[in-house]
Amino acid sequence: MTDGTTNFINGEWVAAVGGAVFASTNPANTSQTLGLYARSDQRDVALAVAAAKAAYPAWRKTPAPARGALLTKIGRLLEERKEAFSQAMVNEMGKVLVEARGDVQEAIDMAHYMAAFGRLPSGSVVPSERPDIYCSARRVPVGVVGLITPWNFPIAVPTWKMFPALLAGNTVVWKPAEDTPGMAVLLIQLLADAGVPTGIVNLVTGYGEEAGAALVEAEGVSTISFTGSTSVGKHIAGRCGQLMKRVSCELGGKNAIVVLDDADIELAVKGCLWSAFGTAGQRCTAASRLIVDKRIKAHFAERLVAETLKLRMAPGADPTAQIGPVVNRTQLERIHSYIAIGQNEGATLLTGGTPLTDAPLDKGCFYAPTIFDSMTPGMRIAQEEIFGPVTGIITVDGLDEAIAIANGTDYGLSLSLYTANLRRGMRALDELESGIVYINLPTSGAEIQLPFGGVKNTGNGHREAGWMAMDWCTEWKAAYINYAEGSELVRAQIDV
Ligand code: NDP
Repeated sequence: MTDGTTNFINGEWVAAVGGAVFASTNPANTSQTLGLYARSDQRDVALAVAAAKAAYPAWRKTPAPARGALLTKIGRLLEERKEAFSQAMVNEMGKVLVEARGDVQEAIDMAHYMAAFGRLPSGSVVPSERPDIYCSARRVPVGVVGLITPWNFPIAVPTWKMFPALLAGNTVVWKPAEDTPGMAVLLIQLLADAGVPTGIVNLVTGYGEEAGAALVEAEGVSTISFTGSTSVGKHIAGRCGQLMKRVSCELGGKNAIVVLDDADIELAVKGCLWSAFGTAGQRCTAASRLIVDKRIKAHFAERLVAETLKLRMAPGADPTAQIGPVVNRTQLERIHSYIAIGQNEGATLLTGGTPLTDAPLDKGCFYAPTIFDSMTPGMRIAQEEIFGPVTGIITVDGLDEAIAIANGTDYGLSLSLYTANLRRGMRALDELESGIVYINLPTSGAEIQLPFGGVKNTGNGHREAGWMAMDWCTEWKAAYINYAEGSELVRAQIDV
């Protein structure tokens, strides 16, 4: 068990300057403390930023293929430690083992994908309007980047940020979520074991309002990459605007699955179960709205409830578990508060709506998979991100109404439509307002080689993953090189 010596600064494991610690607990058994972690403040952040700043010049000059080779090594070490990481994630965050393995696999995929970028083009040569002038544009690193990450994907989300940033030649200070500091320590130790040079990646564990806010404010941090709630994201983006820092925000979602009258109902039910209840609904891509055509709604609802009742709730370490606990008691209570909100607005419960209190689930934060019926688009449960195993059915008459309702929230991350009709599918692809659209697939299931992120209140225009993962952590530098003979100045736009 860790004793609070969990900040990694300039290649050393150290305690917080002030000596404060906080505990991480197991959401499947909240009486089990997993470790004590450094509760950092601006003094620790300042030390971490200084280390990252000092390490930057040499790392920037390290050839990109060498940086890529290090990522390959990191990817291989992640493969070796995948099972140990997955078990630890189950204990600290609560997701079931098979999903924890998927979380680590995303990091492995990202390491190998980004490693290849070390040898791919990172700019272009373009013609000049003047003779004997060489023009090019290339990506350059932005310097020290600050990463602030949530608990729901404690390995995937940080590595989606960290690996592109490192490949691009930046150095890093990372503030992970207070619910998953143990996963951060494991990842940072792995990077050290892989041979990441001193000062390139630094870790400050602690609370958002203390360590996170200090990282946003810190002088010397040029760019913040944040994943988390829309309210915190808006606050951080506002501060970064005032400080003239670059900021990339990946925020919440209110995702929907549309099921049309010609859909394969069994396929759609499987997709809805996975999207609504996977990771106990604690995904930014979770489907908390099911928009169903009135012609098939009764049959769909019956099949969905029947399959939901078969889901096995258990601690994630149980190999038969299909749904684990939610991350903590505060989150459990927040989720439960939405049941009364929904019922007061006129929605009815088809199943669920309660915390689970039979042993051994009473030891942890388990919530019954919940389905509302008679949800209407304006209800709070149809507009606000609940971030738990709660979904609701909105009944519609045909494609036009379905698309309008699917688009009718402040978020725009992931929307899905089930249909057997290619024309309807293509129309949805054109008209659904979200960063990701799925046809005949659930709203969760992104692959790392495509851009990830959303529109409206889901983000501020950036994307992670895919070939555009390099955008938020690089600047463009244009170059003009004159190799003409003679002493003539040839002015652009004027002398040509
Ligand atoms: P929060 O916004 O509460 O926290 C995210 C991170 O920000 C944590 O590390 C947190 O620290 C930190 N933080 C909190 N307050 C501040 C602050 N004032 N200044 C700086 N940092 C701060 O979100 P959750 O952790 O609750 O994560 C759930 C949210 O994340 C959901 O809304 C979900 O949709 C979203 N999300 C979005 C994804 C996307 O790609 N679009 C992917 C995954 C999740 P601490 O842990 O100490 O509170």
